[in-house]
Amino acid sequence: MDNTKQGRVIVIAGPSGVGKGTVIEDLKKLRGFQVSISHTTRGKRPKETYDVSYHYVTREQFRALVDEGLMLETTCYQGNYYGTSRTAVEDALALGQDVVLDIEVEGAKNVRRAFPDAVEFFLLPPSMEVLEQRLRGRNSGEDEPTIQGRLAQARAEIACSSRFDYIVVNDVAERAAAEIDACLKAHALRAGERAPLVERLLAGENITL
Ligand code: 5GP
Repeated sequence: MDNTKQGRVIVIAGPSGVGKGTVIEDLKKLRGFQVSISHTTRGKRPKETYDVSYHYVTREQFRALVDEGLMLETTCYQGNYYGTSRTAVEDALALGQDVVLDIEVEGAKNVRRAFPDAVEFFLLPPSMEVLEQRLRGRNSGEDEPTIQGRLAQARAEIACSSRFDYIVVNDVAERAAAEIDACLKAHALRAGERAPLVERLLAGENITL
């Protein structure tokens, strides 16, 4: 029995509208993990749920969380602030659970600094046309300048995708989730991850999984 399992930080990044949320939902059918619920100063979209999609806060509340040192990372995206609370991540890890973060590229960079072992994925859309359709189709009530801003930001983010550990194309969410699951399984078998197992074997333990 391998009882050396430690929780891992898993980042799912990619342009707004690429379908990170759906892929994360599909990934839940394949493996267990906690999802970090971010704080944002952006308004709630019609299909979103308070404290499930996000913790919605005012700019003053957000500033206070930052000042109190409660945020692991924050970013300003299209004029709104977003951030990951330190406890949301650390509590899951303390329980030996993986924790998934749906964040943009700047956040991913900062998470890597805090957790060098984080496994970071970047989701690509199958085409820029599909990304635009998805952005427009999610019925967010966003005006044209906001949509155009998100598309421009998407191009800039995609240009940074080579910094990530893995790039997955989200054509069909179920398939993208299966690919992420496969990457995570392979990642856990890397020699660097197996040192405790080797030690236990040499100490005379049976390490049959
Ligand atoms: P949206 O407004 O579409 O929900 O999110 C805009 C972007 O902010 C998305 O790329 C989303 O992944 C990212 N985001 C959401 N929460 C966080 C967070 O806590 N930190 C960072 N850095 N990005 C976030």
